[in-house]
Amino acid sequence: MGAQQAQVRDRFAELYGAEPEGVWAAPGRVNLIGEHTDYNDGFVMPFALPHRVTAAVSRRTDGILRLHSADVDGDVVELRLDALAPQSDTHWTAYPAGVVWALREAGHEITGADIHLTSTVPTGAGLSSSAALEVVVALALDDLHGLGLPRRRLARLCQRAENVYVGAPTGIMDQTASACCEPGHALFLDTRDLSQRQIPFDLAAEGLRLLVVDTQVKHAHSGGEYGRRRAGCEKGAALLGVDALRDIAYADLDAALTRLGDEEEVVRLVRHVVTENHRVERVVSLLHAGETRAIGPVLTEGHASLRDDFRVSCPQLDLVVDTALETGALGARMTGGGFGGSAIVLTETTTVATLTKTIESAFTTAAFTPPRIFEAVPAAGAARVG
Ligand code: ADP
Ligand code: MG
Repeated sequence: MGAQQAQVRDRFAELYGAEPEGVWAAPGRVNLIGEHTDYNDGFVMPFALPHRVTAAVSRRTDGILRLHSADVDGDVVELRLDALAPQSDTHWTAYPAGVVWALREAGHEITGADIHLTSTVPTGAGLSSSAALEVVVALALDDLHGLGLPRRRLARLCQRAENVYVGAPTGIMDQTASACCEPGHALFLDTRDLSQRQIPFDLAAEGLRLLVVDTQVKHAHSGGEYGRRRAGCEKGAALLGVDALRDIAYADLDAALTRLGDEEEVVRLVRHVVTENHRVERVVSLLHAGETRAIGPVLTEGHASLRDDFRVSCPQLDLVVDTALETGALGARMTGGGFGGSAIVLTETTTVATLTKTIESAFTTAAFTPPRIFEAVPAAGAARVG
């Protein structure tokens, strides 16, 4: 057992007066390519970060859920399971409570739990702390109750917790990434049926690195914008007579845009989603062919599309991308939903130090809050750790 697990167990025992039955962890993620495609039944390609939410958990039998987070000020929060109701809670506790609610709604007999958690995933940074939090709770309860739910099913239940209980209209990528990723691989995921392929992604072996630049701009107020983009995509699909924009083939894009005529905003949204799905497929082919450096320009194209067509970037994200490219990066893009959060930069190992310094000083010159820059290596998905 690692030092962190021992600490989480000790803290659990202090809070709840007994050792936990077990300890579980679930990672945050970065998305390599495939942004705003997951609610259009499209393709995404995330990988798990070493940053994770760790939870010590025990079952209860009295219909009570007790929650505590080391990362939030405050005492243990106590909730009654029969009082859990969608959108009744505006605090962090809605995420774990939503998972318990979703499991119970799906007919699984959860009779209570004590949960203490601690996290190394930055929140609101586009690295998916919310999904990591949901998945760790779902996996712990699945294990403790012997439910044997497949990982994809767990991800769906977590998405339902976030969409219905918390009230945040997110796609399925984040929860699936946290539940299903494998070390050394990116996850090529078809969000229509959750079919997936693990794509080997070992940058270090090729002398490459992927940097994550957390702009420290919190995306917390982006809910309305996200909803509008989503509604615009649905409108596009309806106008084009398809179930989802995923159904527009790249080869048919021009014809589709012509049909949309002067629906200017819908044209931009549709163009992003269709070209982005194509970019995911291109990245998969390039990685398969061993042409890893060639994915750089595809990532950069993705950023331009998110900035100009989907319009979800922000000055800090654009500054990271522009500075990285001027400093010799192979490619760069915002990752996650946008309006803040993080960018990723693909670079030669030899350029990492210069790039880091140059991005930091560009932020200083622009009088932006200093970014947090770290290297991302594909890590493991959710698992029992103690
Ligand atoms: P992201 O998933 O990109 O980090 P979200 O806004 O989707 O951003 O989720 C962040 C929210 O998740 C936080 O505001 C908080 O409510 C909850 N959360 C994440 N990590 C923790 C944690 N360690 N303890 C308590 N709540 C957390
Ligand atoms: Mg989130």
